Amino acid sequence: MVNDHEHHSHEDAALSSLATLMPDGSRKWLKPKLAKGMHYHRRKLVAYGLIALFTAIPFIRIQNNPLFLLDIINRQFYVGGRLFLPSDSVLLMLLGVSFLLAVIGVTAAFGRFWCGWACPQTVYLEFVFRPIERWLERKSKIWATFLRYVFNAMISFFIANLFLSYFVGVDALKLWIFESPGEHPQAFLLVACVTGLMLFDFVYFREQMCTVVCPYARLQSVMLDRASWLIGYDRSRGEPRKHGKVKTEGAGDCIDCGKCVAVCPTGIDIRNGLQLECIACAQCVDACDDIMVRIDRPKGLIRYDMQSNFNAELQNKKPWHWRQLLRTRVVVYFSLVLVCMAAMTAIAHERNVFTSTILRGKGEPFTVDASTGLVRNLLLLRVVSRQAEPLQVMISITSEKENTSSLTWVAAENPMVIKGNARTESALFITAPSSSFSEGRLPVRVIFRDLESGHENRADFILLGPHAPESTP
Ligand code: SF4
Ligand code: SF4
Repeated sequence: MVNDHEHHSHEDAALSSLATLMPDGSRKWLKPKLAKGMHYHRRKLVAYGLIALFTAIPFIRIQNNPLFLLDIINRQFYVGGRLFLPSDSVLLMLLGVSFLLAVIGVTAAFGRFWCGWACPQTVYLEFVFRPIERWLERKSKIWATFLRYVFNAMISFFIANLFLSYFVGVDALKLWIFESPGEHPQAFLLVACVTGLMLFDFVYFREQMCTVVCPYARLQSVMLDRASWLIGYDRSRGEPRKHGKVKTEGAGDCIDCGKCVAVCPTGIDIRNGLQLECIACAQCVDACDDIMVRIDRPKGLIRYDMQSNFNAELQNKKPWHWRQLLRTRVVVYFSLVLVCMAAMTAIAHERNVFTSTILRGKGEPFTVDASTGLVRNLLLLRVVSRQAEPLQVMISITSEKENTSSLTWVAAENPMVIKGNARTESALFITAPSSSFSEGRLPVRVIFRDLESGHENRADFILLGPHAPESTP
């Protein structure tokens, strides 16, 4: 029988080094076995549902707008079919804050549920790449390695294109794919690089992405508390470990079969306690439940439970109740998410259906008509639509200083016509008497009014003109 002291020295050794690191510092390649238990079948359903969803999202349109698109090149972001521009900084900030709060809230309530059940890294690795590898190994030992690379390259190419479609849109991507690389050399290079990165990640890097790179794992310790719902090993029930099916006096339920370690995709031993490498995939739960059934002991030696229950003595364990989800911390996080979302909805509802910008025209800042003394400024107006339908935006000018009737303006088109979710630029000439200028400046206000909704944008602009001659006493 292994005594407690020996157990602790094993744990200390295990915890003092990375599970995927050999004593000589080289990488320990993992080849986790598969435990097909209840959680695995549920995760499989969720994973294939998510893969279908991830694939469908770039193709879904709402009122002709993409459901979700982060078009960084054109600085246009679509969320839920609504267009957000960099000028919507408050909305984008609220969106980011709500996302962050939701992540913290879900982690406080359910631990790393996201990692094991919904993260694309886990979903594609555990339910696409690994199943294909296992299938190939069963079919052909000789061709397995070669075919594995062919399949991996094909899937990586598909995922790379899918990933890019979230940033450039499916229409642009179709052109990149179906037209000659010579016509889009930069796009071709981009697709090739992203495919290479996907191959590197899913074929070589694998669990290192979760255990070394992903910052979420490192932050989990500050997000969890004693009531968080986690995967853990019930030490008070499992220890001391004892090999063999027959239970002896004083022995725990763990028979030290090692199945929970053999199935772990990050190579850790959950019996050593909560570790940042654990992605909560529940493979160890399925593996251990299967062993418990075989040796006729209750399931749940490794299970989902509150963190406090894993540390408590057997008699002090409290059954989990959904009321745990209503603890102050979790309620505060989700209330803040709701507040942010309500603020976003109110701001989005009130915001204008277009944005407008005024630039000074190129060339001379102003011209003076010698015969009439009128000063002419050239402005460049830019209007960006935020709606799918076309807009008609009427331009008018006012001035607090000058009688509006003495100002005249001519736009290249007035009203400006802007296609749905597009931008239009138009020249505008404003003419004012030279006597209106004080120290060569005349402040005016340019009003952009959408003829249909009545939404207005007002922008102040300084017209430039000649300095008035010094007045004689
Ligand atoms: S699978 Fe269960 S019984 Fe086997 S070593 Fe892990 S905890 Fe112990
Ligand atoms: S310890 Fe269990 S839940 Fe955590 S990653 Fe390993 S198998 Fe998955």
